[in-house]
Amino acid sequence: MTTQDTSRPLEVACPQCRKKVLWSAANPYRPFCSKRCRLLDLGAWADESHRIAGEPAMDETDLDALLARADQDGEPS
Ligand SMILES: [Zn+2]
Repeated sequence: MTTQDTSRPLEVACPQCRKKVLWSAANPYRPFCSKRCRLLDLGAWADESHRIAGEPAMDETDLDALLARADQDGEPS
């Protein structure tokens, strides 16, 4: 039987740039190599779901209109 040394750092490839990174508690961005790569990956995900949701421009226009209306109604003149 072989004894597994669990304290030995595991090496993984960053999903974003494929750079080899150590999977350790010292790396808060694991499995990514850096904060930049993690943000890039999250950004790609958000971008995709945004597109799948559809009509993002319409939603923003609606929100603007609602905010403008709330502004007028909420203001005691
Ligand atoms: Zn990376």
